[in-house]
Parts: sequence; structure tokens; C-alpha cells
Amino acid sequence: MAKSRNIPRFCFYGSITGILICLYWLWSNPNQNYSQKPNPILFSDGVTSCGSPTGVNTVDRLNNPDNYTFYDDPTVNYSIGQPLTSWDERRREWLNLHPSFKTGVSDRVLILTGSQPKPCKNPIGDHLQLRLFKNKVDYCRIHGYDIYYSNTFLHSEMRSYWTKMPVVRAAMLAHPETEWFLWIDSDAIFTDMDFKAPLTRYKDYNMVIHGWPDAVFGKKSWVGANAGVFLMRNCQWSLDFMEVWAEMGPQSPDYEKWGEIQRSTFPDKEYPKSDDQSGLIYLIIKEKETWGKKIYLENEYELSGYWLNLVGKFLNISNIYEDMEKSVRRLRRRHAEVNTEHYAVVREKYLAGDRRPFITHFTGCQQCNGDHNPIYVGDSCWDGMEIALNFADNQVLRPYGFVHPDLRNGSYVRPVSFDYPA
Ligand code: MN
Repeated sequence: MAKSRNIPRFCFYGSITGILICLYWLWSNPNQNYSQKPNPILFSDGVTSCGSPTGVNTVDRLNNPDNYTFYDDPTVNYSIGQPLTSWDERRREWLNLHPSFKTGVSDRVLILTGSQPKPCKNPIGDHLQLRLFKNKVDYCRIHGYDIYYSNTFLHSEMRSYWTKMPVVRAAMLAHPETEWFLWIDSDAIFTDMDFKAPLTRYKDYNMVIHGWPDAVFGKKSWVGANAGVFLMRNCQWSLDFMEVWAEMGPQSPDYEKWGEIQRSTFPDKEYPKSDDQSGLIYLIIKEKETWGKKIYLENEYELSGYWLNLVGKFLNISNIYEDMEKSVRRLRRRHAEVNTEHYAVVREKYLAGDRRPFITHFTGCQQCNGDHNPIYVGDSCWDGMEIALNFADNQVLRPYGFVHPDLRNGSYVRPVSFDYPA
């Protein structure tokens, strides 16, 4: 106890980067006597410091007044299936007691993702899971977002694609300071590290999914929208919506009934059981006034791009971006990783032709159990993930001075020369 109490305080206040640097520092100093104060010189130059990254230090993590909040109400429950009322007021009260978190609250995003608690059956499944998670951590660090990874089922009967609702529910209570949650499936990859969801576009909405109105309302297709990546606002509407949505899940007495209703609603749905995506689209169509009108169907960028349409384009897109850097000197200037957003804004002015897809979603690949959809031949899922992960990692590696010259080979990097690619 004495030891851990004396670990430098700043180690607890950083983001993921800070924590990793701190862990590395602690591990790499096995003989360090923690009862001694750390040598101040070691942490004074801003390079070896575990201090907070830009922006994060404006919030006061030490302030938590004794005033009664929803956390003190024994009737408040974190679990789905236990409706919660007056959430908007309760959340507002908490924010009023924590004024430093009110600044910038509308832009605050927490990324939520996760995977099953047990080891993967696919021999390369856990390796892929790690790299898929690294991709999300990289994206978060670049944009100053936080991330929560769930590796357990918060509701024992809500597994596979039903697992996200209990996670989002619990995260809303755990993070009253956060306005938006971005749920992203483990099989989805950020493939444009520059891009940020245009939150102001969604100011009148509470949920955002990738979808096409004509496929949803016209064809009534269960694949007219994708439920594997979504933005959800931290508000009462979202809690209520998730209760209704989750009623179609395997823990519900109406599970079988919903399977039948979904099949009779969507002509292209063959799978007999109720699934979350069909349920979501069902509510958008059938309960438009209550739910549908607050759900934004996004298709101006790839919030959930289908991998099979995209992986073959990555080499060409890499060349387009490289050509852009050849012709614009300021785009190829070396810079600190924390300045990445600046270059993203500059690059936007010169973008022509194919842009990087924001998110590439490997739907049907099932990297953990390995039972991919039989329409995907051979190793096409894993080969595709390798290419997409390296395509994304090249954007991350650049400020570190390295590049994967071959998108099919994540093990090999070479240094990037000064003024590359002039
Ligand atoms: Mn998925």
C-alpha cells in the first residue's frame, strides 16, 4: 500500500499515452524506491513527463463535492432492463457541481468498443483483436478522445451483437461529462485517422448510423443501415430508446416473436432470429415519430464502410495522398503528432478524388471465432484486415518517422526520409 500511495500523482491523470509511459517508467525502474520523491529533473523537461496532454488539464479531476447526486440514489441502476427516469436533469445537476467539465461538453466523445471475455478460437484471432484495438487507441490519442474497452458481457444473456447496449447504458452513467458515445465494433477499423464526425450536423439528433433512406424506407432492407458503428447522445431519449431496442434481444420473453416480426417486415432477412440491426431499422420505420426522427442516417462519408468494396482501393488512395504531398510542400512538413489535426484541416483543401474511408467495417468476418461468412473466399477477411490495418497505421507511423512500404506486410517498416515524398 505504501508503495502504490507514493507513485507520483501525475501518473493517474494522463490519458492512455500518459498511463502507458508511466507503466513503462515504473516497470523499467524495478529498483526504484517509491517512498522517495522522484528526481524532479527527470520530469522537468516536458519530454519524460507523465503530465496531461493538451486540453485534458483544463478539467478539475480532484473536485467532487459532497452534494447529493444520482450516484447517491439507491434506485438508480446501471443495467439495461431497469428503466431510468429524469436522466437529463440528473446529468445537468452533476455537471453543475463539476463546472470544469461543462466547458466543451457538447464536443466530448467517448469511444466504446470491446470483445468477448474468452480467448479466440481463431488462432490469429487474439492477435487481430490486439491490432484492431491498437487502431482505435491510436485514433483516440490523435484526437484527444477517451476510450473504454469492454471485455465482459455486462448482461449475461446479451452477447455478440446485443452486447453493446448494456455497455452504452453503463457508460452513460459512468460519464455524465460526455455528450456523445461512439460505439465501434471490434471488427471495424478507423482508416482515416484525420477525420472527425461532424457533430454540429447532428445537433437535432440523438443517434447517428450509416444508412440509406431509400433502402430503409423504400426497399425495407435489413441491411439498409448498419448497427455496428453508431453515435449516441448521452440523454434520456437514448436510455429510453435502448430499453425498447433491447426488448428484441435474447434476454427478452418476446425474443422469438420479434424474430418473426422482423422476418415479415424485411423481405431480404433470411436469418430467423431477432437481430439488433433489424430491430433498429424496424423502430426507425415503424416508430418514426418516437424514434426514427431522432436517428440520422449518414451516408456522406463512411461511418461504416463495407470492407469488400474498400480494401482493393487502399493502394490507389495511398498514391493519391502521396501525390498531394508531392505537390504541396506544407503537407509533407514534419510535425508533432499533437499537430495532426492541423494538417488534417490543411489537407482538406487539397483533397480531390477518392478520400480515405473514415471507417472500414469487416462485417461477416468474425475474426475471433474465425467463422466468417462463406461468401468470403479463403483468407480474404484476414488479408483484407492486414491491408486496412497497415493503411491506417501508415497514417499513425508518419509522425514517428516510419512507414510500412508494403500494405500487406505489417511487420516491416522503413524510415521516412526528410521532405518525403518530394
Ligand atoms: Mn461488426
